[in-house]
Amino acid sequence: MLRARGWYVLTADLLYWLVIGMPLTALLIWSNMEFAQSFVFFSVLKQAINAMLYTSLACILLFTFNDYFQSIKSSQPPLVKSLPKWLLYSFWSISAFFVICVSLVLSTNFSEFQKAQLEKELEINNNYITHIGNSYLNEHQQAIENIAYQLSYITDPAERKRALSKFHHLYPGFLTMLTASKQGKIELASPSSIMEKLVIGQFSVVDRPYFIHAMEEQKLFVSDVFLGRAFGNDPIIAISAPLYQGDGLNGPSGIVEGSLNLGMFGLYDKIGHDEKLIKTIVTDQNDRIIYSSDSLQLETLSGFSYEDRAYKNSLNLISLKSEKNEGEMFIHKQTQLMNDWKIHSLIEHKFSLKNIEDLYLVMFLTLFVTLLAASFFAKRFAIHLSRPLRFVMDELSKGKKTGDFRDVPYETPTEIQKLYQELRVNRLALLDNQEELQKQVFKRTEELNQANRKLTEQANTDTLTGLYNRRYFEKNFKMMQSIFSRNNSNLMYAIIDLDFFKNINDTHGHLFGDYCLVTVANMLKKFFNRDSDLVARFGGEEFVVVSQCDDVEILRSRMDEFLQQIAAYAFKDDGKGPITLTISVGIAVGQAKYSNLGEDWFAVADECLYEAKDNGRNQTKITVIDISAKVNV
Ligand code: GH3
Ligand code: MG
Ligand code: MG
Repeated sequence: MLRARGWYVLTADLLYWLVIGMPLTALLIWSNMEFAQSFVFFSVLKQAINAMLYTSLACILLFTFNDYFQSIKSSQPPLVKSLPKWLLYSFWSISAFFVICVSLVLSTNFSEFQKAQLEKELEINNNYITHIGNSYLNEHQQAIENIAYQLSYITDPAERKRALSKFHHLYPGFLTMLTASKQGKIELASPSSIMEKLVIGQFSVVDRPYFIHAMEEQKLFVSDVFLGRAFGNDPIIAISAPLYQGDGLNGPSGIVEGSLNLGMFGLYDKIGHDEKLIKTIVTDQNDRIIYSSDSLQLETLSGFSYEDRAYKNSLNLISLKSEKNEGEMFIHKQTQLMNDWKIHSLIEHKFSLKNIEDLYLVMFLTLFVTLLAASFFAKRFAIHLSRPLRFVMDELSKGKKTGDFRDVPYETPTEIQKLYQELRVNRLALLDNQEELQKQVFKRTEELNQANRKLTEQANTDTLTGLYNRRYFEKNFKMMQSIFSRNNSNLMYAIIDLDFFKNINDTHGHLFGDYCLVTVANMLKKFFNRDSDLVARFGGEEFVVVSQCDDVEILRSRMDEFLQQIAAYAFKDDGKGPITLTISVGIAVGQAKYSNLGEDWFAVADECLYEAKDNGRNQTKITVIDISAKVNV
């Protein structure tokens, strides 16, 4: 899921194990009582470390053999990351893989070494305790045989008592020693303090196995282990031998017995090694516990049983069937004493686990520190690697036109140098192209503008006379009217019509007619030459002039002057003529605000023109428009 969100597999894996994997594994192991609880932490760590190892290996393989894994990669969203991120990813994968590999090899070696070490320890302890046990039992059996032999030759009761005391003194391993008569009555006892408790001569041991066996079999007898009735809770064994009087032909005269204290195993168990590490259990031939290290809290003389928990080729592991040691595992080694007793040396498994756990913890910490270091170095490397690239990008983006690109001032991989060279060449070519293109665009635009201007001119101009045409006139009339109107000026709207022009055409031909039209137009333009005068060909042989008019009389005289100019002009062209012609003019004059519609002014002027025509032509007719009433002048 994290990978689908663009996380790296390794990071996702680490996060998974920290947040979900490890708690879940711990829970699973915990809920499974079959499994030793001491393994929980170890197993959880091991799972996570294994997973990290495989994931980092997978990452490295994906990196190294990128092309072979297309099918896997294509089913995943692409990882689009920056150079530092890529470096970080590879650093992480590689360092994680090697840290874990090295750590695993070390931990395997270490655990082998530890296994051998622990087995050796157990063996030493076993040998030691076995040796002690064997010699202790031997020595005391021999002691009983000796005293039996000696007592057989001493008859004086006081002497016998001294001899027993002396012997007991020599062998303090015996808690008590006693002699009994043929009838089982106690005769002597050591230490003498117990003699006060037992009324000598009355206390009988006739029912005791050590008495019966020694008397009947007439040889050294060693009893089973039992708890001393009179002296604390230490387990003891009774060693007895028959006594003889004189030549001994009448059979044994009694027995000598020593109660051997077996608590001494504890004494020897506690010296010579660290009690906390190695625990000892001594069991008799019936697997009853004679001695066990205190920390195990096992009941003396209770049955000793255990379950084999060894797995694979690991250490010989057992778990004790005892409530006190529930769920604990021990490394176990067993040897046998000469009398079939067994010595069990145990080391708590968690001690050996503890070391490996520590090792794994160190591994995890190392991994963490390595990943931090990898992040740092990846960043530094990335800065170092991407510096030339950034420089190249900066340099190219400045848009230099002369091509004076600086060389990369850092140590640069040859690939980047080549790329830079290539890009510089391309960049310059591009700039040249761009310039050429710009020039062309400029030229084309200029041409286009010119064509546009021409087109506009053509659209506004009358082709024959070069005056403005009617379209332009109508458009500009509105503008002029509004300006005059705002200035409170008077406006003059004149229609100029050539008289009997049809006749001229008919007589001299159309081309001559055209010539006349052009000539009149030129004269008109020359005559009304103020900037504010608008002169246009209205259509056919009619022209219009719109101008500001301050004085109607001046206007009239100017128009008469123009009429005379035309009438005096000799029109001749192309061998035709000379002829003269006249014009008639109808003029509407009034305050500009009279109307902003050209039609209104035209109507008035056109009426005047008709009047001028009717009145005999070659004259001007002016109507002064009063806004309230029109007055003909
Ligand atoms: P009037 O004095 O009443 O105005 O008489 P007129 O003959 O001038 O008027 P009419 O309207 O009867 O004739 C106008 C003539 O103008 C008709 C036409 O042949 C001529 N005309 C119109 N436009 C042009 C032109 O562009 N070139 C030439 N040569 N003649 C034109
Ligand atoms: Mg006309
Ligand atoms: Mg005419």
